[in-house]
Amino acid sequence: MFPTYDVIVVGAGHAGCEAAVAAANLGAKVLLATMNMQTIAQMSCNPAMGGVGKGQIVREIDALGGYSGIVTDETMVQFRLLNRSKGPAMWSPRAQSDRMAFALNWRQKLEAHPNIDFWQEMVTGVIVGGKGEKDKRVKGVYTGLGMEIPGRSVVLTNGTFLNGTIHIGEKQFGGGRAGERASTGLTAQLQELGFEAGRMKTGTPARLDGRTLDYSVMTEQPGDEHPGRFSYTDTPPLTEQLPCHVTYTSPEVHETLREGFDRSPMFNGRIRGLGPRYCPSIEDKIDRFAGRDQHQLFVEPEGRNTCEIYVNGFSSSLPEDVQYKALRKVRGFENMKMFRPGYAIEYDFFPPTQLGPTLETRLVDGLYFAGQINGTTGYEEAGCQGLIAGMNAALRVQERDPFILKRSDAYIGVLIDDLINKGTEEPYRMFTSRAEYRILLRQDDADLRLTPMAHALGVRGTDERMARVAEKRTAVEAIARELRDHSVTPDQLNGYLESVGTAALKQGVKLDSVLARPGVSLEGLADAVPALRDFLAPYDAETVNLAEVTLKYEGYIERERQAVEKMSRLEGIKLGRSFDYEQLTALSKEARQKLNQLKPVTIGQASRISGVSPADVSVLLVHLGR
Ligand code: FAD
Repeated sequence: MFPTYDVIVVGAGHAGCEAAVAAANLGAKVLLATMNMQTIAQMSCNPAMGGVGKGQIVREIDALGGYSGIVTDETMVQFRLLNRSKGPAMWSPRAQSDRMAFALNWRQKLEAHPNIDFWQEMVTGVIVGGKGEKDKRVKGVYTGLGMEIPGRSVVLTNGTFLNGTIHIGEKQFGGGRAGERASTGLTAQLQELGFEAGRMKTGTPARLDGRTLDYSVMTEQPGDEHPGRFSYTDTPPLTEQLPCHVTYTSPEVHETLREGFDRSPMFNGRIRGLGPRYCPSIEDKIDRFAGRDQHQLFVEPEGRNTCEIYVNGFSSSLPEDVQYKALRKVRGFENMKMFRPGYAIEYDFFPPTQLGPTLETRLVDGLYFAGQINGTTGYEEAGCQGLIAGMNAALRVQERDPFILKRSDAYIGVLIDDLINKGTEEPYRMFTSRAEYRILLRQDDADLRLTPMAHALGVRGTDERMARVAEKRTAVEAIARELRDHSVTPDQLNGYLESVGTAALKQGVKLDSVLARPGVSLEGLADAVPALRDFLAPYDAETVNLAEVTLKYEGYIERERQAVEKMSRLEGIKLGRSFDYEQLTALSKEARQKLNQLKPVTIGQASRISGVSPADVSVLLVHLGR
């Protein structure tokens, strides 16, 4: 019934969709096997993509030929560039999505792909061949109906479904998400194969009937006046935006919630999995920050064709009657009706230190894990892992070199390096602070950084993208040249310089030296120097912005490049995968254990493993004759 697929992707969430497309766009024959085809690319929690650290990831996915950025652009209802008041390394795009349109758009893109087949069923195990302990190879998957689907590689992206348990107050039942079954069988089989599994939890807020809310007492939060986009392709601009609103909890709301604490699965010990520190439930916030008498709530529309509302900031697993009573005390919610209560979910994950840098498991060749199954949280974190796992699964079948991003290449590189070397005890989400080369990993130039790599691999659809990248590079160089060559007099600029609080010029200078000053913008210079405005007119806003950032932060960028170069010397020193570190008695005991467990590929990777000290790195270097 089934051919032998190059890549079988299990699960069609954000990781699964990107994995399927990434493998298919490298020419692999892909099967996307998922429990429910009606929930392909479902946004399990908030209807939004991007945000701090996450928006950068979406742009990187796009630059590598993934679809999350395009789907978001084509279905968003609001766009904001967050952190605009900070430096460009922190600028983070965020979009409010239309939940239903997002999922439908993804499904249409997958169905339009000639290399992707579909199968709706629960996968209950992986078929593993090979004789010895060290020779396990994946050969396909088993399904709930007892079928065996042959495959040369398998990517597991089971999300929150593995032995999922949903909690609402005292009630608890099996489920992978509201209204969906949990996935059973797989965890036990993987444990039998030698994998270690753990338990995590996450939660989601109630959904409300927007017709019953009083927006007049809330603060409106509109989108950007000139909305941007995620994709570097020509996705259509967003013309009609929907507003979000902001309201607050109060001491009365907190008191009502507290009355339900003894019935809370979080506080009575029924939930044991660790939850996301940066996305706590409302009861958690009240408990941890007892001194605060209000918490901000974002009232977010779920789409253009529904009145359903997502209450960002009010995630809860308290009994539904307690949630209802407390929500009715929130300003603007006095007459609210609820569509469904919030809930918490506990699920199995596999500590990601069991993976290599391609997200292939160390235990079974050809078996990859991506997304929430690796202990991460968030659509963006899941999507980018799917992309890397899907690409590498295809490359492996094609007997080509793996595709690995370094920490200095992309946030995706940071995320995977963190996961496989440090592991994670709680749901891992991306922050700009996790990246040491932030100024090199900006959201404005992910295409320049990454599209050439995807193009070199032959990812379908990147020819046109590459042409754009070349065009953009030429344009940025032309703008930089103009600013370096263009002299201005004090008369021309001093009015503007005074208005932004920077010292007046005493003599003529080149424009680039003025742009480097804090507070000075290219826009402001163009206003003061009409010839510059005329010069910039033919270029689009994104290119002008990139030129501005590149010139203004030239010094910082160069400094980070040098730091990367220094580090890359360590990254270039390879370590044997079969070496037994127990032989190196000069290493600390912990280092020997960790190195044997994780088998780093380079000295650089070894240096980032927790428990491997600089002294241990020296021992390794001496051992290698360096
Ligand atoms: P999912 O999106 O969960 O997709 C898994 C897919 O695998 C589904 O299509 C499912 O049908 C399929 N599947 C599972 N098992 C099998 C099987 N055995 N056979 C076939 N198909 C299978 N993220 C945040 O960033 N912040 C939050 O506050 C947040 N809250 C959340 C609250 C809840 C209640 C839930 C459920 C998730 C929450 N998330 C949150 C997480 C976010 O939804 C995930 O990070 C993201 O969706 C993970 O993507 P994924 O592709 O790994 O898995």
